[in-house]
Amino acid sequence: MTPAPRVRARRRRRRSALVVAPLLVVAAGVSAFVALENLAPPTVRSFVLSVGASVLGEPSDAPTSPGPGTPAPSPTSEAPTSTVTPTDTPADEPTVDAPDPTPSGRGYDVDSPDSITVVVNKLRPLSPLEHRPDDLVPVSGAAVTMRAEAADALAELRADAQEDGNPMAVHSAMRSYQEQRTTFEGWVAQMGREQAERSSARAGFSEHQTGLAVDVVATGDTCGVMSCFGETDASAWLVANAHRYGFVVRFDGAHEEWTGYKAEPWHLRYVGVEVATAVHEAGGPSLEEYFGLEPAPDYAD
Ligand SMILES: [Zn+2]
Repeated sequence: MTPAPRVRARRRRRRSALVVAPLLVVAAGVSAFVALENLAPPTVRSFVLSVGASVLGEPSDAPTSPGPGTPAPSPTSEAPTSTVTPTDTPADEPTVDAPDPTPSGRGYDVDSPDSITVVVNKLRPLSPLEHRPDDLVPVSGAAVTMRAEAADALAELRADAQEDGNPMAVHSAMRSYQEQRTTFEGWVAQMGREQAERSSARAGFSEHQTGLAVDVVATGDTCGVMSCFGETDASAWLVANAHRYGFVVRFDGAHEEWTGYKAEPWHLRYVGVEVATAVHEAGGPSLEEYFGLEPAPDYAD
């Protein structure tokens, strides 16, 4: 026998209640968990996140160790201490390196025969007249000698000149008192005393006797002798560069009233880089002018 429709309906409602009740319990539990999670204090959450990051190897805000060579900061090295004191020397006081203000020599030794800045001319003979340097050495590639410092500088000059396409040979360098006397008398015999005095020095009055002078010729040019050296590229190179090696072109032809000699573009005189550079930057005055000495156009007698 089939039950009446009203009875079937009551049975369906009873089964639905049995399914819904457990679902409500689960929903209530999830809500409670979410509520607890939201109530966790921020500090606790940060700590948990930080620990998690460190474990994962992610960068943290912790200071890193300095790299090699980086000095570790220390409290004493950062701030200036009270040991800073005013300087003892006012800026406008002359320093110990300033040139001697006396007019003669600018603080350089222009008198001693062994000084690299000695000035020898027709009024300033070597003293003693027969002076001979004691540090002469062979000049590289030539059968002559110079003082060691000048010989080294000349070797450097010639190497660089050659690299720039201006090779030079050494014609003459150190000449002793006796050799200078022979040289001078040879010129007198050849051209007469008056002309010889303008191009050669008496014994005891020559820069060649100091071991600091050298005569050069151009070997990479059509001119290989001294008489036409002034027209060579090598001569122009010397005018522009000799000071960098401590040499001056001593007799440029524009200062004969000071030096007593006509142009000798082949004659180099070693005075050291400091003086040579200062002379070059001053426009190439004679050594007499640069050092505040009197002109020496002729001998006293
Ligand atoms: Zn010379």
